[in-house]
Amino acid sequence: MQQDCIFCKIANKTIPVNAVYEDEQIIAFPDINPAAPVHLLLIPKKHIANILEASSEDAALLEHIMTTIPKIAAIAGLAEDGFRTVINTKDNGGQTVYHLHFHILGGRFMTWPPG
Ligand code: 5GP
Ligand code: ZN
Repeated sequence: MQQDCIFCKIANKTIPVNAVYEDEQIIAFPDINPAAPVHLLLIPKKHIANILEASSEDAALLEHIMTTIPKIAAIAGLAEDGFRTVINTKDNGGQTVYHLHFHILGGRFMTWPPG
């Protein structure tokens, strides 16, 4: 838990959250400013600023995240048509919240390359 981290506050329910998926290690919830018809954020409850700050100690957590993404996509109705998973890192990546999060976007066709 890091003071003043909005996603830590969501993870520990200081800020109420409408969770789509939750277990002991992770929680997924709708993005407040959706960029697609379905736009979820999946976060570890542990505060990790971004993927650069993840270490080998976090390997099991990262494995858990990657293997749970398809389950969350299925819950959100995205498995049939597909979806996009995005990790923004630091300024050039467009990261605005410095608590590791995985965007799960779907419900429309995604263009490539991203802007
Ligand atoms: P980033 O730009 O860091 O990759 O993504 C941060 C995301 O968090 C943005 O899409 C933004 O809309 C979302 N966001 C920021 N504050 C909140 C919040 O308090 N609640 C929720 N649900 N999403 C938030
Ligand atoms: Zn945090």
